[in-house]
Amino acid sequence: MYTYYISVGSNMGDKKGYINSAFQSLQQHEAVSKVISSTLIETEPWGYTEQDTFVNGLWFCESTLAPNQMLGLIQSLEKEAGRERLIHWGPRTLDLDIILAYDSYGNMISISDEKLVVPHPHFWDRTFVLEPLYELLPAFTYKGMTIDERLAQLSE
Ligand code: ATP
Ligand code: MG
Ligand code: MG
Repeated sequence: MYTYYISVGSNMGDKKGYINSAFQSLQQHEAVSKVISSTLIETEPWGYTEQDTFVNGLWFCESTLAPNQMLGLIQSLEKEAGRERLIHWGPRTLDLDIILAYDSYGNMISISDEKLVVPHPHFWDRTFVLEPLYELLPAFTYKGMTIDERLAQLSE
């Protein structure tokens, strides 16, 4: 059994609608259980700023799917939402990224191959990931720092 934290974002069309229908599909998947969503928040674009505001959140789930299989599943959910990759970090109906993954012993999984990098390489720099992560996992620490401390540092 694996445990995942998956960030979710949308900044096109019915943003919450895309997020909620993907959430339901994940909940209904036979290999996925205990799906929990953070509060959804409205955020300013990151990286490529000439675009509409985002709705962002973070999902927790358990799954028998290994990380590469989970990547396949979230990519199929993005496809269902009509996701097209036009501009890097540009407008999208749905973006699902694996932020953190743990094995059945609770050990954090690190992967770095051409298709999947976990922990997600930018998660520690993104307030739109860290704020929902704080809601789901307030005691989380990374590089010797709490989320609280990191958020304070990012707002300096
Ligand atoms: P970012 O990853 O910086 O948030 P993005 O989400 O806009 O950017 P995408 O176009 O959604 O990027 O994904 C590009 C590729 O990133 C995917 O095809 C996937 O193979 C790869 N990828 C690497 N690591 C991850 C991860 N942890 N979660 C999701 N996709 C990943
Ligand atoms: Mg992303
Ligand atoms: Mg992505």
